[in-house]
Amino acid sequence: MLRIDLTHADTEPLDFSERPVIPPAAGGEDVVSVDPVELSGHVERADRGFLLEGRVAGHARLRCGRCLTEFDFSFAEPVELHLLPVATAPQDDEKRLGRGDLEVRFFAEPVVDLTELAAEQFGLAVPMKPLCADSCRGICPTCGANLNLGACSCPPPDQDDRLAPLAEWRPSE
Ligand SMILES: [Zn+2]
Ligand SMILES: [Zn+2]
Repeated sequence: MLRIDLTHADTEPLDFSERPVIPPAAGGEDVVSVDPVELSGHVERADRGFLLEGRVAGHARLRCGRCLTEFDFSFAEPVELHLLPVATAPQDDEKRLGRGDLEVRFFAEPVVDLTELAAEQFGLAVPMKPLCADSCRGICPTCGANLNLGACSCPPPDQDDRLAPLAEWRPSE
């Protein structure tokens, strides 16, 4: 049931639990691979539309934005959407149908594509600049060595000519 027919939730809540396969690119260019995403929850009638509440979780391989090595990434996020027929969309931008932080979506057809939803939520879960660790030292800009594995033989960047005046401030002891 990768596409939920919302009309089936007209009379009673509809549970779903799927593992859609999504393309790594859904999370951006730093995603190497992604396992099928776990997407579960339920849909129920709310106001003039439907309320979708659930959870998205999974595992992926990302490439570190600093040292370029691959690392495992796990995510688990709540999903909450208020789905309304497009006919109820506000005609002017000032009118807000949202309640609190609840995200509102308008649909032309009463269908939710769980693969699309999983891909979109995965894209939100992946950091803009993934890091293997906050303390990642990155790569040497000169020789390209991964500095997490140890110092390279290049002169340390703090002996850069531009910083030479600062070096004079060091205690000479
Ligand atoms: Zn790194
Ligand atoms: Zn180096």
